[in-house]
Amino acid sequence: KARQVSGTNVAFFEEQNDMKLQLEMDVLNQLTYGLQNKEFYIVLQPKINIKTLEIEGFEALCRWNSHILGPVSPATFIPLAEQTGKIKKVDELVMRQVLRWQRTRLDSNEKTVPIAINISPVHFYDERFVQQIVSLIKRYKVPPYLVKLEVTESMELVDFSKAKDILSELRQHGIECSIDDFGVGFSSLSYLQQLPFREIKIDRSFINAMDNPGMHAVVHTIVQLASNLQMNAVAEGIETPEQFESLKQMGCHTGQGYYFHKPLVLEDAAKLIH
Ligand code: C2E
Ligand code: MG
Ligand code: MG
Ligand code: MG
Repeated sequence: KARQVSGTNVAFFEEQNDMKLQLEMDVLNQLTYGLQNKEFYIVLQPKINIKTLEIEGFEALCRWNSHILGPVSPATFIPLAEQTGKIKKVDELVMRQVLRWQRTRLDSNEKTVPIAINISPVHFYDERFVQQIVSLIKRYKVPPYLVKLEVTESMELVDFSKAKDILSELRQHGIECSIDDFGVGFSSLSYLQQLPFREIKIDRSFINAMDNPGMHAVVHTIVQLASNLQMNAVAEGIETPEQFESLKQMGCHTGQGYYFHKPLVLEDAAKLIH
């Protein structure tokens, strides 16, 4: 009987796997089409000063509304785009949309704030990456401080000294970088201290579990670590007033999350900073 049950389970998992594979194939086929046909756009999530509640900047997040598949989550298409090299196109598209928006704000003399762009660590293997970013920013005549980069902690994949060089080069050009999803990856503390990041973004899963005293202590320690390294601390995914209050008491400088704002379409982001 037990055998029969486990047999059923295997069949069930195989079916699930087939479905996952099929979905991945569909997504891959549509990705190329979608990139050519303007199915991708950005939304902006505010980064809030926890003490003053002022908007310090935005984070640009990519959205894909496929005419065949409907809305596809970045959690699905970003890893696939990374595996197939399409991520360069995705990130460039996001970068251009951010720069175009900043340019229109500047042209019409409207208030604007820095916008952070998520970039995949795969760019850190590309020798021309810094030059490409710098020339794009120049082409749109946007002051470099209005563009920031977020790199996830899965940077362990990348050659350390190469990463250090790229980050220093970007900094020399006035482009600041944050380490994203801090705490869930593999970066060692000694690396963190040597890499010229401006900002540490504490992963949402930590903030989410902060009602647990142990996790509360961990978050507090990361906030202090950031401060000791002269880096800015950002808490991701703040959803409740309790989380907000705790982070405020810890002296965490910046926050993001549904408690403040969901990611906004450009029109709503413009209204918000007005
Ligand atoms: P991330 O950079 O850590 O972005 C934060 C994610 O958390 C976003 O998900 C955002 O919508 C979500 N979020 C923000 N506040 C809350 C909250 O209070 N509660 C909950 N439950 N979620 C919250 P999203 O937009 O689905 O993006 C997922 C990930 O995909 C991003 O994580 C980033 O790593 C990647 N990604 C998104 N856009 C791009 C892009 O243009 N290029 C690259 N390379 N990666 C991107
Ligand atoms: Mg990010
Ligand atoms: Mg993040
Ligand atoms: Mg995260």
